[in-house]
Amino acid sequence: MELSDRARAAQDAIGPVTSFFQSLRAMDGQAGIVDLTFGDPHEMPLRGLVNALRENLEPRSVDWFAYKTSLAPARATIAEGLHGELGLPFDPDDVAMTQGAFGAIALAFRLVADAGDEVVFPQPGWFYAPILRAANLVPVRAPLAAGSFDLDVESIARAITPRTRVVVVNSPANPTGRVYAKDRLAELATVLEAASARNGRRIWLLSDEPYRRIRFDGIGFTSPAECYPWALVDYSYGKVLLAPGQRLGYLALSPLIPAAERDELRAALLPLQMGLGWTFPDALMQYAVPALETVSIDVAELQRRRDLMVTALGAAGYDLTVPEGTFYLWGAAPGGDASAFVAALAGRGVFVLPGSVFDHAGHFRISLTATAAMLERALPALLELAPR
Ligand code: PLP
Repeated sequence: MELSDRARAAQDAIGPVTSFFQSLRAMDGQAGIVDLTFGDPHEMPLRGLVNALRENLEPRSVDWFAYKTSLAPARATIAEGLHGELGLPFDPDDVAMTQGAFGAIALAFRLVADAGDEVVFPQPGWFYAPILRAANLVPVRAPLAAGSFDLDVESIARAITPRTRVVVVNSPANPTGRVYAKDRLAELATVLEAASARNGRRIWLLSDEPYRRIRFDGIGFTSPAECYPWALVDYSYGKVLLAPGQRLGYLALSPLIPAAERDELRAALLPLQMGLGWTFPDALMQYAVPALETVSIDVAELQRRRDLMVTALGAAGYDLTVPEGTFYLWGAAPGGDASAFVAALAGRGVFVLPGSVFDHAGHFRISLTATAAMLERALPALLELAPR
C-alpha cells in the first residue's frame, strides 16, 4: 500500500463529490445544456477586477515578482475593511494572505489543532471534511435545525467532546443561504465558553465568511467573531468578484484574542504557510487588494434572479429555503430522492448539485451565478418535475 493514510482519508471524505464530478462529464461538449452546479461565472469577468490586475501587471521595481509573503498594503486594507464591517480593530499584522478561503481554512486548522483533534462543522455544509482528513483531524458534523437550516446551538453542544478543538460557523451559509442572527451566535459563544472550561482546553471558533458581502434585502451581518473572542476569520475574494480561479483570501486573528496567545499565533502564521508549501497568493493578486475593496458582483441583480426562481418554483410547490445571502438556492427534492431528481433534470439538460455533496441527500442546490437567460431555460425542466 503506497498511499498515505491521510491521502486515503481525504479521498474517502470527498467521495460523493468526486463521483458527482465524474457524472458531470456528461455535460462536456453538449450543446444547449444549462449548468447550475457550481458558483462559477457565466458572464465575462468584472471590469473592476480586470482593471485592478492590469494596473498592477506592469512591474514598478526589480522585485515586483520576487518571492512574496503577506504584503503590508494588502493586510492594511483588509484590517481596515474588517474594522468597518465587523466593528473590531483588527491588526494588519494578524492578517495572513492566503490562496482563497480554502488556503485560509487549511491554515486555521493547522494553527490551533493537533492530529486526532475533532472539528465540528455544520451539516449540510461545505467540504471541510477532506481538508480536515488531510490534516489528520477528525470531522464531526453538527446538523443545522431541521426545516429552517438555522444554526442549531443544541446540536453543536451535543457534538462537542473533550477532543473538540475547533467549531466552524459559515454565515452566510453554503448551501442554504441562511445568515445567522446575533442572539443565536451569542448562545453559541456561551456554549463554547462552558465547554472550553469543562474540557480545560480552549475551543476555537473558525468563522468562514466568504459570502459576507453577498446578502439580500438589506439583511445585516453579525460575524460570530463579534460574539466569541477566541476566533479566526477566513475570507475569499472568489465569491464577491465571482472569480474563484484567481486565488485570493485571508485568515485574520480576532483582536479579542488575549495578547499573549495572539502573539504566539501571529508568529506561527508565516512558518506554517511556508510549511504548507508557500501558500501565499500570487504577488499580482496581493497588489490588487486595495483596488478590489470596492469591486463586487451585482448583488441587486442576484437578488432579482433569486426572486425569479423562488417565485416560479415556490408557486409550483417546491419547498425552498429562501436565501438571505450567498448565490445559492437550496430546495427539497420532489419525492425526497435528490439523486433521482438531479438525474431527471440532467436528462433534460439542466445540471444542479445533489445534496449528497453536502451530506444532505434529500435536497438539491442551484447556483444563481447563472445568467438570467440560463435560468429562464432551466425553468421548464424544473417545473416539469415540480411536486405539483
Ligand atoms: N467556504 C465556503 C463556505 C465556500 O462555499 C467556499 C467555496 O465554495 C470556500 C470556503 C472556499 O472558497 P475559495 O474557493 O474561494 O477558496
